[in-house]
Amino acid sequence: MPGFEVFGDEERKQVNDVLESGVLMRYGFDGMRNGHWKAKEFEVAFAKRMESNYCQLVSSGTSALTVALASAGIGAGDEVIMPTFTFVASFESIIALGAVPILVDIDDTLTMSPSAVEAAITPKTKCVMPVHMCGSMADLDALGAICIKHDLILLEDACQALGGTYKGKPLGSYGDLGCFSFDYVKTITCGEGGGIITNSEVFKINADQYQDHGHDHFGNDRGAETHPTLGYNYRISELNAAVGIAQLGKLDAILEIQKRNYTIVRNALATIEGVTFRTVPEGGEENYSFLSFFLPSEALTQKAHKALGEAGVDGCFYWYTNNWHYINGWNHLKNLDTLGPLPSEVKNQLQDLNATDFSKSDAWMSRTISSLVKIGLTEAQVKERAAKMVSIVKNVIL
Ligand SMILES: *Cc1c(COP(=O)(O)O)cnc(C)c1O
Repeated sequence: MPGFEVFGDEERKQVNDVLESGVLMRYGFDGMRNGHWKAKEFEVAFAKRMESNYCQLVSSGTSALTVALASAGIGAGDEVIMPTFTFVASFESIIALGAVPILVDIDDTLTMSPSAVEAAITPKTKCVMPVHMCGSMADLDALGAICIKHDLILLEDACQALGGTYKGKPLGSYGDLGCFSFDYVKTITCGEGGGIITNSEVFKINADQYQDHGHDHFGNDRGAETHPTLGYNYRISELNAAVGIAQLGKLDAILEIQKRNYTIVRNALATIEGVTFRTVPEGGEENYSFLSFFLPSEALTQKAHKALGEAGVDGCFYWYTNNWHYINGWNHLKNLDTLGPLPSEVKNQLQDLNATDFSKSDAWMSRTISSLVKIGLTEAQVKERAAKMVSIVKNVIL
């Protein structure tokens, strides 16, 4: 998945453009910047690639989620439905606004179960936030229908699925809003950065203002701009945006290599009786950044994961016991370990996560191993890795 594997002259050239003018900020200093507007240029290119009307860049994927929620008017006491398998950014971004994360089970897609979403809707629900984990997607038609029926915002967290598609649309472009991360381990990286895409002019204007202290961005005298609403600083810097332009130019080549390498390993593992793969919703195409597979039981999965690690097959994740991506590891959330007091809405409306039954999620997650698809390996090296994985997994489960 990581774009850092293909960092090179293109990125250096882009960064040098910025260093030569010395204008590291995305706004203002028009006379000094030699015509370089890297953040704007990246936004235009990214919106086009994502077949969306608008893109707003921000400082991270986490801030993209917060800004996207804020742009849709979500705030104190509003409930946002999110899955049990995701990155901690999901609940962090919601709580940052005083909104309330409501966690629901995943299914064999390893993303939120539409029936679990439907069951979690209350009069306070405002938004459904599927997370397209490990390169593949949620059942967007089913979630979209639920959102239309209940008049909810559909916000896709596509941070791990850049370049995947659903029914011909880029992931992230199907919902009302889509969010991406360009942190150092994502499909393309700009060091730290994030992006929001939308077709809504209102959401774009709100996002544009919110991420920059509420500035209206009219005219070219920053000091004279008005502030229609309160905002915050989630801006991206020109240096980061410059790297992103170069990386975006490499996206399609990255996706092609990922698909090749994924397919080699998948075809090899598919020969083992007892190994099955996550379900990809009909009409979906993964971005092939991870290959996720199921083994028959929790015990065998743990054994296989351990054996893969011991044999030096790196990049195989067992999320079930990993403390960043699955609810099992989120004791700080379960126990509400915060530095200061939480907003009362959050405190009052949060589920008791120590007591909620997520056994349906456990049933899938305890049997899932995800293998990172690296792009720096040659075809022969990938075949060698695949053969090693097959022999280890076979040895454990047969
Ligand atoms: C990486 C990631 C984020 C957050 O992105 P950062 O840029 O690291 O803040 C959010 N959601 C998911 C699913 C991610 O993988």
